[in-house]
Amino acid sequence: MASVTALVLDRPQRWDNAFDSEMTPEMVARLLQLAPFRDMKAENFPKRLALSDILQHDVRIRRFDKDEIVVREGDYGTSAFMIMSGKVRVVLGNLPASVLGRREPTRKGIFRVLAQIFTSRKEPESFRPSQLKQDSRVAARKGQNDEVKVFLQDVPRILDENKTAILEPGEFFGEIAALSRMPRTATVFADTDETELLEIRWQGLRDLMRYDNGLHEHIDAIYRKRALAAALREIPFFRQLTDSELQQVMAQTEFGTYGEYDWSGEYKRLAQSGSGSQKPEAVIAAEGDYPNGVVIIRAGFGRLSQKFGNGNRTLNYLGAGQAYGFEEIAHNWQNPKAPVALQHSLRVIGYTHVLIVPTAVMESIVLPTLPKRLMPDPVVERVDREIVAPEPVDAAAKIGADTLEFLTENRFFNGTASMVIDLDRCTRCDDCVRACSTAHDNNPRFLRHGPSNGNIMVANACMHCVDPVCMIGCPTGAIHRDAFGGQVVINPITCIGCRACYNNCPYDAIRMVEIRDTSGEFMVDQDMKPISKATKCDLCVEQMTGPACERACPHGALKRVNLNELDAFAKWLKR
Ligand code: SF4
Ligand code: SF4
Repeated sequence: MASVTALVLDRPQRWDNAFDSEMTPEMVARLLQLAPFRDMKAENFPKRLALSDILQHDVRIRRFDKDEIVVREGDYGTSAFMIMSGKVRVVLGNLPASVLGRREPTRKGIFRVLAQIFTSRKEPESFRPSQLKQDSRVAARKGQNDEVKVFLQDVPRILDENKTAILEPGEFFGEIAALSRMPRTATVFADTDETELLEIRWQGLRDLMRYDNGLHEHIDAIYRKRALAAALREIPFFRQLTDSELQQVMAQTEFGTYGEYDWSGEYKRLAQSGSGSQKPEAVIAAEGDYPNGVVIIRAGFGRLSQKFGNGNRTLNYLGAGQAYGFEEIAHNWQNPKAPVALQHSLRVIGYTHVLIVPTAVMESIVLPTLPKRLMPDPVVERVDREIVAPEPVDAAAKIGADTLEFLTENRFFNGTASMVIDLDRCTRCDDCVRACSTAHDNNPRFLRHGPSNGNIMVANACMHCVDPVCMIGCPTGAIHRDAFGGQVVINPITCIGCRACYNNCPYDAIRMVEIRDTSGEFMVDQDMKPISKATKCDLCVEQMTGPACERACPHGALKRVNLNELDAFAKWLKR
């Protein structure tokens, strides 16, 4: 009896909510007859993560009609797909924004910018009915269970203008975006009616790969082929390598995933309950250990900390493209008689996907070819544990330990354009809110309040995140990155008000608004239900003059700040 209880309690918590609550044992039996599952050895899976249980809880079978979009280039997604029957087509070029439900990037001319001051609509978020019928080259309709199905229009033209590739039963796609939390790199649509796809949520895929070597090797090879070279070439100390040297580095690079993939849900729950206590952070590498390899952050964030008294103090946070351990490995290679251990610890904040290039590879391939100007200074070991860490590592020295802790605890470093307000200068005049309202059809897109620390407040305005979790699961592609500047924007025409982005945003930066017509009446759909749309700050992407809020503040109290560039933020704090 005791062992039964232990087994039940030991189940992964995610299985409390199966990906498809209607998955039956018969459907699981059918999957077990299909490649690659029929070739997997059930005995290699532990009892708590049995192959049949993974298929029962972590997958769902989805049916697509011809020309129906499965995933779009640029979307974020947390699942991968395997073709069960039928075919899908991958578009290898870039499709125009309107084809994908996005708005074409535009900038208002100076006359339209001036005119909006005098022609502001009386009602916020009002639309002409004809606007909502605008041909966006995308057609959406409801399928079974109210699922939204979106179809590409004019596919012959798409095929004429773009190279495409066909994927057949048994083939996977979307696995790299699902596992590494990177944007999807291609648009995929069904090429046949009744195309059956198996959608596997990322945790299930991870566990299948963990216990089936064949799948692990298959996806590992795809990752190395499609994503690794580009990722490594972004790092300065790999740029001088020849193609063949880079291939040798790639062959020995390892991947690691730490923390909670859906950290934002947990963060939001804690923020809403007013509790600040997060789960303890997993350690990727510990201060004092031998450096086994250079760790490169590929997605998510890591906290760099150093022992201080009886605890640890945060020195900085590392985001995508930043490396850890390089200085120590370079030092030891140049000074083999006086090696140093890792000077800092690297912990996971939320979720972190990393690449690890082993020390031996760095010593034999990378460091011997490195130009002198890229060779880091020798590491000076700390004798006194209480002394201040040297810049530029110590971000606390730039912006203050309190501010750094505040930004880290609230995950604000995710923002590339956070709205920071200096409360000592702000007179609460609301000129910023009025300017936002003027630029956005009489509807301000932010609230002038939010978490604060000392005189610094981060307002509830979209921060245009590095990791925009709001973009996971938008069925129509309405929320997307602007093609010019990368700001996260919403196309009101294709937004169907499903609230997925609103529920996902951990910072409460999205609001659902019931829209009106130009006479002020609420608009309704054919079922007489109010039509609502998601709205949020778009960083005045259409205004030539940049964010209206910042420009309007007469006291220089409001700044849109890229919190990944702390030098600029430190300068503003000390202005
Ligand atoms: S809506 Fe939220 S998650 Fe999305 S970019 Fe803005 S702040 Fe980040
Ligand atoms: S509410 Fe958000 S997720 Fe849903 S369609 Fe609109 S933009 Fe997309």
